[in-house]
Amino acid sequence: MADLFKISGARVYDPANGVDGQVQDIWIQGGKIVSPPSDGCRPDRTLDARGYVIMPGGVDMHCHIAGPKVNTGRKMIPEMKRDAVIRRTAHTHSGTIGSVPSTFATGYLYSQMGYTTAFDAAIPGLLARHAHEEFADTPQLDKGFYVLFGNNHYVMDRIREAEHEQLDAYCSWMLEAAKGYTIKIVNPGGVESWKQISRMSMQQLDEPVPHFGVTPRAVVRELAAASDRLKLPHSVHIHCNNLGIPGNWETTKHTMESLDGHRGHFAHVQFHSYAGDPNDPRSFRSATSDLVDYVHAHPEVTVDVGHVNPGQTLSMTGDAPFSSHLHRLTKNKWFTADCEQESSCGVIPIEYRPEKSLIHAVQWAIALEWYLLMEDPWRCAMTSDHPNGGAFYRYPEIIALLMDRELRRDTMARLPHGLEERTVLKDIDREYTLSEVAIITRAAPARILGLKHKGHLGAGADADITIYAPDKDIRRMFERPRWVIKGGVVAAEDGDIQKEVFGETFFVEPGFDQNSLPGIKDWFEEHYTISFSNYPVDTHYVDQPHVVPCDS
Ligand SMILES: [Zn+2]
Repeated sequence: MADLFKISGARVYDPANGVDGQVQDIWIQGGKIVSPPSDGCRPDRTLDARGYVIMPGGVDMHCHIAGPKVNTGRKMIPEMKRDAVIRRTAHTHSGTIGSVPSTFATGYLYSQMGYTTAFDAAIPGLLARHAHEEFADTPQLDKGFYVLFGNNHYVMDRIREAEHEQLDAYCSWMLEAAKGYTIKIVNPGGVESWKQISRMSMQQLDEPVPHFGVTPRAVVRELAAASDRLKLPHSVHIHCNNLGIPGNWETTKHTMESLDGHRGHFAHVQFHSYAGDPNDPRSFRSATSDLVDYVHAHPEVTVDVGHVNPGQTLSMTGDAPFSSHLHRLTKNKWFTADCEQESSCGVIPIEYRPEKSLIHAVQWAIALEWYLLMEDPWRCAMTSDHPNGGAFYRYPEIIALLMDRELRRDTMARLPHGLEERTVLKDIDREYTLSEVAIITRAAPARILGLKHKGHLGAGADADITIYAPDKDIRRMFERPRWVIKGGVVAAEDGDIQKEVFGETFFVEPGFDQNSLPGIKDWFEEHYTISFSNYPVDTHYVDQPHVVPCDS
């Protein structure tokens, strides 16, 4: 029998099970949380956590931590890495930090902050093997990734021809081949339009993609329908068209409408909530309230925020057209690449200076508006679209702002004149409770991802547990938990990694009609530079494979 481990006496915040600060013991056996044993049963070991606060391990549902574009980002900013290093210890490898940490450092930094699960949001099927290789070097986390479909040539052909069965078979085959978790859409149709005609203007949802004759609206609707037919645990995951452009909130609202009642998750929604004239940056302002009203009325829609932190970071995205736009604005060095038949990417250094730039200040405020205006935190996850809005390890700065309106007001007082009439942030009095923080940082993302054994502390859940020392300094409290437990093992203590614990890799196998395969193979052999048989990632290549059932 595996040893019985008891964490005693802490205040437990487990919103999925209705526990809001009550003092409870947590029992662990075999890496899982178990029901309290019958009277007289003694634990093999006990951790005395009286006076501490317990939450499930954090879950980051949208970040960029693996694959070629992350590697490109690491190489692009040597100046941010030179002095930011993690030294090797008896328990750990060395690593570099900066806004795009190395693989091992990524795992350690999440763990030090109390996070135990993270999903990379944009991997092309063709480059899935690289992402899995990096995952195998990323300790302390369970992980998975989303596969890019929104500009895939085969997908657009099937949508145009209304071949739904073949579309489902392809999505299913691709997710199994890449060992991916769900269908990701980035700038649907817009990336392909840009590749073909160097489009610079706003992408219209009903404007057909050249050569393919399908509209962005159809891509969203049909892939949302496919993900529901396949019963994927997490819905289609959408990065809308026109990211970052003033006036894009209408595109975002119309994209939400195009779901036609299907489930859909809207990523880094802060970057898609802008009012104003696309040709006049001075008109830039928040449209958060309008979008929040829509989300409130449509339970099939979930969001993550994509907040921004002041300072230098790196934009990395499958949205190469946006990256090109940023390059024209900033003149910064820029990397871009095409991924045959499937997608593109762009990587470019950026700096957020909300104290100097009114636009950056409005972006900062819009993110806080999303967190604070969403009445139902269960449909809103904390993200910075790491590293796009700032590094993941800066989440505690945002938690502090959400829990303290005076801190928000003091911060706003230092930001440029004009912010107050462009956002409604100054009028919001809400302060997050610990329970609401537990929802947006772990319980909600786990539920949105369809991970039934994550984000809560009920019997059967993974024993991923974070124990915080209560502190008036909220940022400090969330930056350095007292203990972080991963799968029942004490992984970090006071910010020091105690043990390298390698986690599982989540993916789906929705299943498909094998009669569809010859058609996919024929098309593949005609268009790709590699052969069909070399494409799929074999399960033995994946670090601790865990197939999550398709029963949503
Ligand atoms: Zn992203």
